[in-house]
This record gives sequence, C-alpha cells and structure tokens, in this order.
Amino acid sequence: MRLQDKVALITGAGSGIGRETARLFAQNGASVVAVDINVPAAQETVERIREAGGTAIACAADVARAADCEHMVQEAERAFGKLNILFNNAGIMLSEDDDAVTTDESIWDKTMAVNLKGVFLGCKYGIPALRRAGGGSIINTASFVALLGAATPQLAYTASKGGVLAMTRELAVVHARENIRVNALCPGPLRTELLMKFLDSEEKRQRRLVHIPMGRFGEAREMAYAALYLASDEAAFVTGTEFVVDGGITAAYVTPEG
Ligand code: NAD
Repeated sequence: MRLQDKVALITGAGSGIGRETARLFAQNGASVVAVDINVPAAQETVERIREAGGTAIACAADVARAADCEHMVQEAERAFGKLNILFNNAGIMLSEDDDAVTTDESIWDKTMAVNLKGVFLGCKYGIPALRRAGGGSIINTASFVALLGAATPQLAYTASKGGVLAMTRELAVVHARENIRVNALCPGPLRTELLMKFLDSEEKRQRRLVHIPMGRFGEAREMAYAALYLASDEAAFVTGTEFVVDGGITAAYVTPEG
C-alpha cells in the first residue's frame, strides 16, 4: 500500500480526476477527505470508497472561499488527526470562456477565483497543517494548456492554469527545506464531463483529437495514477515539476494524423 497511514485531502473529489484519485488513494491505504462544492457528488465518492473497504469523509467547500478552505483543512485534522497530502484539483472551464475580445469580465473573474485563487487558498490553509505533520506532498492540477496555446480559445482558463504552474514552482522552492513537495499535474484532454461539455459536438472533439499522437482522450484514472506517484514517498526527490500526462500532445509537431 503506497499511501499507508497517510491522510489526503482532495478538492473536486465529486467527479472526474478528483473522484478517481480519491478512490485510488483510498485503495492504497490513505484516509481521504473528499471535498467538493457539490455535496451529493462528494458523498457518492465516499460511499464508493467505503463499499470497497476504504476510509473517507465528505466535506462541502467552495475553494474560492477562504472560510471554506480553512474549514476543509480543519475537518481533515479533526477526523484523521493530521494532513499529509493536499491535492488542489477543483477547477472549472466555462463555455462562455473565449478570446480576449469576447470573454466577459465576469467569466474571467469566476474562472480565476476557482482555478487560481482556489489553489492559493488550499495552500494558505493546507501548508500549516502539512508543517504540523512534519511535511507532505501538494499536487496542483494545471493543464497542458499552461504549456501550449490553442486556436480554439479559452483564455481565462489557460491564464489560470499558467498561474497554477508558476505558483507551484515558487511554492516548491519556498517550502523545499520544510519537507513539503509541491508539483503540478498537467493533464492532456480527458474524456471527463468538464471537457466533453466544452467540446459539445463530434466536430469539436475530432478537431482536438487530431493533435493527440495517441489519437484518444485520456481517462481520469490515468491522472489518478500520476497523482498517486506524486503523493507517495516514491517521489521523495520530486518537487517543482510540471508533470505532464497528455498522450504525447506537448511532444508533437505533427501527429500521425497530420
Ligand atoms: P470535473 O468537472 O469532472 O470535476 C471537477 C469537480 O470540481 C466537480 O465535482 C465540481 O463540482 C468541483 N468543483 C467545481 N468548482 C468547485 C469549487 N469552487 N469548489 C469545490 N469544488 C468545485 O473535472 P475534471 O476533468 O475532473 O477536472 C479536474 C481538474 O483537472 C480541473 O482543475 C481541470 O481544470 C483539470 N483538467 C482537466 C482536463 C480535462 O480534459 N478534463 C484537462 C486538463 C486539466
């Protein structure tokens, strides 16, 4: 069991990457705090973990709100006595997010509040708890769009993920001597609700698939395995990385499809 006796807090645990990671972490011996703004979804994740014999609690929080982030960390320490792993994973991609000219200021602000400020607030309240535990691992979900520009714009989303990557590097450097590792997970396009809602026609999906050497969308479970490595002591010398799991998208100039 790769996370035996560890306590992990995962935001956005009611769906996609967060849910699959919560299940995998629990299978690997972690006690999981499944955080989501969607409470029934977080509870369903917890039920699935418990059915499989794992340990988890659900916690309601909007990661864009400081008081909620403070509360979720308190809940982890109250329920399980400590916090070892913080997975700042909750994120949104709004359908009205477009180019600079057409994107409304409110869409920009909302995206930044969840995707960028949410990670900051998770760290603001999570890092003191990790210190109390003698160190730990933080994983922040960025995206391959933090590394590459796209002609189908989602400007606020892309900028927010670039911010997550920059913030991750600085956090890694600042906290390296405290035994706190901080890494960014950069998923490629996944077959999750978030992206399938955004790419809402077969034509849009095919346009994206052309750019992926593997010719398919990734699975949330494939991100969970990467997060498991970064969370575990196997990654003891890994900090400040952009951990790319993208089917080869960032390596490609031309794909087999042309
Ligand atoms: P998802 O929509 O399946 O799950 C996201 C979860 O976050 C949902 O359960 C949602 O309720 C929760 N959430 C949303 N806003 C929240 C808030 N303010 N506070 C707390 N919880 C909130 O998405 P996913 O595909 O699993 O994405 C997870 C992360 O991965 C996001 O940060 C996303 O940007 C990133 N990502 C996804 C893809 C992809 O293709 N799906 C690619 C790269 C990066």
